[in-house]
Amino acid sequence: MPEPLARFHAELTLVNGSTGDPVLLIDYPDRDDAVLLDAGENASLSLEQLADLSVVLITHHHIDHFVGLDRIIRANMDRDKTLRIYGPPKTIEKVADRIRSYEFQFFPFQKIVIDIYEIHEGGFRVGRLDCGRKFPPPEIRDEARTGCVIFENETIQVEAVFAEHTVPCLSYAVIEKAGWFLNVDALRKSVLKPGSWIGDVLGLLREDAPNGTQVLIEGGSYPLATLRDKFFLKSLGARLAFVTDTLWNEASRARLLSIAQRASVLYCDSFYAQGQLSQALKYHHMTALQAGEFARLAKAEKLVLIHFAKRYAGKYDMLVDEAREHFAKVTAQIL
Ligand SMILES: [Zn+2]
Ligand SMILES: [Zn+2]
Repeated sequence: MPEPLARFHAELTLVNGSTGDPVLLIDYPDRDDAVLLDAGENASLSLEQLADLSVVLITHHHIDHFVGLDRIIRANMDRDKTLRIYGPPKTIEKVADRIRSYEFQFFPFQKIVIDIYEIHEGGFRVGRLDCGRKFPPPEIRDEARTGCVIFENETIQVEAVFAEHTVPCLSYAVIEKAGWFLNVDALRKSVLKPGSWIGDVLGLLREDAPNGTQVLIEGGSYPLATLRDKFFLKSLGARLAFVTDTLWNEASRARLLSIAQRASVLYCDSFYAQGQLSQALKYHHMTALQAGEFARLAKAEKLVLIHFAKRYAGKYDMLVDEAREHFAKVTAQIL
C-alpha cells in the first residue's frame, strides 16, 4: 500500500513565475474543479484550462491582479455550470461592470452562472450574474460567515483573511483534505485511459470498500486493491498559503500567520529588497527578507517568492538570498 504523503496532490502552476503577475493554478487533472488564485495576466493558460475552473480567488482589484478576468469569463461563457468568484468588498460591482461592458449575442447554449462572493468582516455579500437570463443586474443577498473558512468541497477548504494593502485585499489558504487522490503520473504511464472509473474507485476507497471489490474498466475487471496501489495516493492533508500585496506589521502578522501555519508551501509577496523598505512601507508590500521571516515563524515547509518588482530584473537572485537569511527552503521561478 502506498505511503501517505503530506503534500499537495493537485498540480500547482505559478502561471507567470515569480517575476510576473502573481497567479497560481491549482488543478486536479482528472477533474474540472480547478482553483485560480488571482485574476492577473493569464495568457499562458489555455481557454480549456480556464474552462476547468470552479473557483476564482481574487486578492484585490489592482490591475495586476484583475486584468485576466476577461479571459476567465470568455473561457467559461459556453459552460453549463456555476463559477464562484471570491474577492474583497466591491467585487460584485467590479465584475458586473466588466460583464456589462461587452455586447452579447446570447446563444441558448451559453448558460454560465457566476456567483460572486464579496468577503466582508463577519459576512458575505453574494451577487449572481446569470447568462441564461441575459445578465440582469445582480440581486444581492447577505450571508453570515463564521471563522475564516469561505469555501469547502469534497477535496479542499479555503480560508481568507484581510491583508494590509493600500486597498481592501485578501490573503488565502487552500487546504487539501486528507484522503485519496489519483496519481496522475502513474496513470499517464499506464495503458488504461482516464474515465469514469477514477471517480468510482475514489468513491470505493473513501467508503473503505473491501480490497477484492471488482472494478470494470474498458471491458476488464480489476480488484480494488490493485488499482489503489498502482494509481492512487493517500494524502495526510496539506495547506497552501497565498499572501501578496500586504504590509508585514503588527496589524497583519497574526492574521497572516494563522492562514500560513505549517503550510506545505507558502507563496509570498517579495516585491522589494530590504534596501527599499521605505517603499515597501509606503506602497504596502513585503520585502523578501520579511517573507523569509514570515515563513520561519509560520513553520512552513517551503517558501516560494512571488511578485518581484521589475527594478530587480537581472539581479532577482538577490531577493532569494535575502529571504534565505531567515529561511532555508526558499525558491523562486525566474522567467
Ligand atoms: Zn496591489
Ligand atoms: Zn500587486
